[in-house]
Amino acid sequence: MTKFEALGLQKSLLDAITDLGFETPSEVQEKAIPILLENDTDLVALAQTGTGKTAAFGFPLIQKIDSNSRTTQGLILSPTRELCIQITNEIKLYSKYEKNINVVAIYGGASITDQSRQIKRGAQIIVATPGRMKDMINRRLVDISKIDYCILDEADEMLNMGFFEDIKDILSNTPDEKSTWLFSATMPKEVSLIAKKFMHNPQEITVGTKNAGTSTVQHEYYVVSGRDRYPALKRLADTNPDIFSVVFCRTKRDTQRVAEKLIEDGYSAGALHGDLSQNQRDLVMNSFRKKQIQMLVATDVAARGIDVENITHVINYQLPDEIEIYTHRSGRTGRAGKSGISMVIVTRSELRKIKAIENKIKQTFIAKKIPTGIEICEIQLYHLANKIKDTEINEDIENYLPAINDVLKDIDREELIKKIISVEFTRFYNYYNKTKDLNQSGVGERGEGRRDRGNRGDAPTSGSVRYFINVGEKDGYDWMSLKDFIRDTVGLGQDDVFKVDVKDSFSFFNTDAEATEKILAQFTEFKVDGRFVNVEVSKNPGGGGGRRDRNRGGGSRHRGQGSGGDRDRGKRRERSYGKSEHSGKRRSKRRKSDFF
Ligand code: ADP
Ligand code: MG
Repeated sequence: MTKFEALGLQKSLLDAITDLGFETPSEVQEKAIPILLENDTDLVALAQTGTGKTAAFGFPLIQKIDSNSRTTQGLILSPTRELCIQITNEIKLYSKYEKNINVVAIYGGASITDQSRQIKRGAQIIVATPGRMKDMINRRLVDISKIDYCILDEADEMLNMGFFEDIKDILSNTPDEKSTWLFSATMPKEVSLIAKKFMHNPQEITVGTKNAGTSTVQHEYYVVSGRDRYPALKRLADTNPDIFSVVFCRTKRDTQRVAEKLIEDGYSAGALHGDLSQNQRDLVMNSFRKKQIQMLVATDVAARGIDVENITHVINYQLPDEIEIYTHRSGRTGRAGKSGISMVIVTRSELRKIKAIENKIKQTFIAKKIPTGIEICEIQLYHLANKIKDTEINEDIENYLPAINDVLKDIDREELIKKIISVEFTRFYNYYNKTKDLNQSGVGERGEGRRDRGNRGDAPTSGSVRYFINVGEKDGYDWMSLKDFIRDTVGLGQDDVFKVDVKDSFSFFNTDAEATEKILAQFTEFKVDGRFVNVEVSKNPGGGGGRRDRNRGGGSRHRGQGSGGDRDRGKRRERSYGKSEHSGKRRSKRRKSDFF
């Protein structure tokens, strides 16, 4: 018997679960599903984002629905249109082997006539945003007077968004004897109020600590001056060539502006906020899901609850006004047990907010430095080399090869490699070479070494040597395990390996200069599982900023797709290298301040 079977789920649902690839129930599922299946009870379930709450209510709901009746029996309320669509799609997947179960999504910004037509065909389950739901009730386009189950998903956020009155009105149209299931990441007093007012002796389950962020997420912050936010964002993106991220801004205007700038600079970015039409938002979400957009720039409201797989980074372009919101943001990554990074770009004056967030999420932030231009160049260079290595050969070039070979016939392999790399790299390098260190001090004020869990993020690096090693995340390493691996292989002491920076298929680390010979000797012709593990001294000794790197750094990646209007996969845009990180004017200003 599988663990899902033990929860009491029927065969058709177990088959759907197999298709979904879920192997074991998450904690909230393990706790909620049996309770909901066995009793008709009210329930308050508190669990962090990304813990599988949708399935925790979705499966029991489907099992309890009477598919022979066309009456609307279940209502799921969710805060945003995107989430509403997402839940609807999930429920459809869960119920793929059920006969005659209809799920309909009801949300603003789309045709109300179409939605009401779908409902008339018989929807046992309705997933709705509060605003549109209320509208449809008022117009008598929907009847929820006979529902048995009402689910309030992301209840904290719905209340945050001011839906209290709407929810109250909606609930007043439902029968008293229904069961209400409330799911929430956090339990602010508005949520307790709803529970008190509209629920009868709810059973309560809590997963993890209340209000805690997901532990698979690493939290990092970068201190820059306010006007360097945008260039800092670009560098963070450039340091992670395979980034797939949500960038959070505080206002719709900033969201739009940052997205536009990124697109203009050749990144594959898109904006998601409430001023866009439903159609525009759908387009952006679709391309993001398909990974045609690498950076989704979004407001908190628009991105709430969005579940897109494998988001590698959440970037807080600005910190949210409320600490609670930070939890929701960082919960977009590190989902379903995967690891993720939540980065915060802060100014010195905002550092106290970091402390407040740490207290709230019970996790420490790592103080990190915005990479210098040289570091980014290096990363991009290795990334490019790896990309060439991994590129699948397009057989259609076969016909042209004789002519091409003819053109290149006098160039030997070594020179050819140099030239190929230079095609992409030179403009990039020229661009970065001209820029400055973006880091502001203020990091040390928090106590050097305290935050960086032995990664020595800010330790002085004079006299130390930086290395490149050809293994990375792809080989299953994170910075801790790589550090251990190097230490154990070479026979070094506890703190001898530092500044370990693991990228996708390669990494960097530092040691004191004395260890260099030993390291290089050990990693000569060194194999792990039959594969050569290679270490080289990297050209950039600092590897973490510092004075010597002044006047370097900056930002844009070699290629990217446009977004929104330019989502055509084939139409890649060149990034603009000619431009400075800021507009020309601002840059000369900043230059000046460098000297005074
Ligand atoms: P929450 O609502 O708690 O934020 P979701 O319901 O959106 O989380 O689920 C997060 C992700 O985890 C989804 O991609 C979902 O498909 C996946 N997931 C849910 N339950 C399981 C499970 N038991 N095993 C593996 N993945 C799961
Ligand atoms: Mg959810």
